[in-house]
Amino acid sequence: MKIISHKKKLKKFILGERNLGFVPTMGAIHKGHLSLIKKSIAQCNKTIVSIFVNKPQFNRINDYKKYPRVLKKDISLLKKIGVHYLFLPSHNQIYPDGINKRIKVHPFSKKLCGKYRPHHFESVVDVVDRFIKLIHPKKIYFGEKDMQQLKIVEDFIKKNHSYVKVVACKTIREKNGIALSSRNFLLSFDERMIASKIYKILRMRKNNLIKKSIYITDIKKKIFTLGVNKIDYIEILDINKLIKPYKNKVIYKVFIAYFLGSTRLIDNI
Ligand code: AMP
Repeated sequence: MKIISHKKKLKKFILGERNLGFVPTMGAIHKGHLSLIKKSIAQCNKTIVSIFVNKPQFNRINDYKKYPRVLKKDISLLKKIGVHYLFLPSHNQIYPDGINKRIKVHPFSKKLCGKYRPHHFESVVDVVDRFIKLIHPKKIYFGEKDMQQLKIVEDFIKKNHSYVKVVACKTIREKNGIALSSRNFLLSFDERMIASKIYKILRMRKNNLIKKSIYITDIKKKIFTLGVNKIDYIEILDINKLIKPYKNKVIYKVFIAYFLGSTRLIDNI
């Protein structure tokens, strides 16, 4: 595995690659990331993974500072699985002239997490745009765990880099139902138990929520009794009606964002 930190070197290494799969990550690699990477290795000639904790997309400075960073462990996991290139740029390599304030993203970016994290999705799209311009991948891999991000980025890529195919990958969960996430490293044992209970409640009640035989306010009350200190939102949306062109098939998902201590978790079930 070639480890590359500089844009110029990156260009040299990947110049001739015509069938490159790209998996952008913020590191603290887990089985969720590995499922994307395995798919890329299976579908493409070469696979490049980036680890870049993208500061502009964090709206709480403590969240950025606390974000898990375990580079040595990440490198050994990525080597073992057969990644060809690992791109580890610095902030200045990616933002030599600061952020792009004119980036245009779909209005869906104002809903769900966008209501609570202003400009978050603009910053995510900005960094993905920069990486695509450097790497020119044939395929780029995103997880359904971050469904809103996936839909917004997919819309942007279709409009601006139509030669890149976005590959959506299923959410990988622990046996207890928790969606794998780098932020889970920040949870205590008890907090993990609560997260698992929340997953189970939402799964069990999903159909009742859709039928409205049970209300979101009731579910919220139940979740608060478990020890959650804040729920940003619980919403049910048809993922095929989020961004045009709409599909006929209806797929409802329950979207949730909540806090355990100071750790913010999101999921869609
Ligand atoms: P992150 O490092 O959290 O920015 O995630 C990098 C990529 O991995 C994103 O496309 C995520 O949606 C995806 N991802 C994170 N967790 C999971 C998971 N549990 N299952 C599938 N994909 C995931």
